[in-house]
Amino acid sequence: MTIEKKAYAKINLGLDVTGRRADGYHIVRMIMQNVDLYDTLTFSDNDTGEIALFTESDKIPSDDSNLICKVARQLQEEYNVKKGADIRLIKRIPVAAGMAGGSTDGAAAYTALNELWGLGLSKEELCRLAVKLGADIPYCILGGTALAEGIGEELTILKDMKYCPIVIAKPPIDVSTGWVYKELDSKEIESHPDIDGIRAAIEAGDIRKMCDLIGNVLEPVTASRYQEIGQLEEILEAAGAVRAFMTGSGPTVFAIFEDQDKAKEAVDKVLSSHITKEVFLSGPINPNN
Ligand code: ATP
Repeated sequence: MTIEKKAYAKINLGLDVTGRRADGYHIVRMIMQNVDLYDTLTFSDNDTGEIALFTESDKIPSDDSNLICKVARQLQEEYNVKKGADIRLIKRIPVAAGMAGGSTDGAAAYTALNELWGLGLSKEELCRLAVKLGADIPYCILGGTALAEGIGEELTILKDMKYCPIVIAKPPIDVSTGWVYKELDSKEIESHPDIDGIRAAIEAGDIRKMCDLIGNVLEPVTASRYQEIGQLEEILEAAGAVRAFMTGSGPTVFAIFEDQDKAKEAVDKVLSSHITKEVFLSGPINPNN
């Protein structure tokens, strides 16, 4: 049997850090939103018990350190699975970008292998296993629009975000998430976004109000070191975006538009700036619909 899955990227329509647990994990409040930018994975079962991952991407490992392989091994061990899987990954989501690229591939592995190996686990059971491998994976399993609290694993599913074009641009720089959080810890957070207000604006379908309120406490940290972030936001806003923001710990920027043609032109403007070639015309999506 072969199963194909689309693993969607996410953006943060707001990211706040409200504290730190004794074990070092940050306590967050984030609004998560899937966007129509995805990796494609195919899973075929085998009788050898081996987990083999094939990808043409040279930006991620294809050995056991890949999150997809870790998920497969965890399921094999927990449920004494004798079958293996041959997995193919077409990577489109920018890597180390703040778009949960690894987590969403991991989530696709949970849902596909659950089916392929006939484990019969519920999404809630998969989420309980998933949080051991990554705090963002449970959200990626559920998908859509969600409020994520705790370390990111306490999820409240929200009403779908109203459709609007979203331009996504990833500058060609590598940002270490660890460095961003360490910098954040060394400073006082000056202003916290109104996560409840963003949630209310999303649920009211009020894109402008949502854009007035979106904020990400990690953005001042990353953007003060990498000027490409501010430059891309300026280009996107000059091209007609309601507003542009950084997602996660960066460096990817996303811009919310009300007009599809303006969004298309904005893609060309980013390309002609030569800051990056990784630009996508996308939009919000709920993979469950
Ligand atoms: P997040 O938004 O959850 O912080 P990210 O988008 O910033 O994640 P990823 O693309 O998930 O970052 O990559 C983080 C690291 O995980 C990379 O260094 C990469 O080598 C590793 N990794 C392991 N498996 C994968 C995978 N399937 N896809 C992408 N990266 C992976």
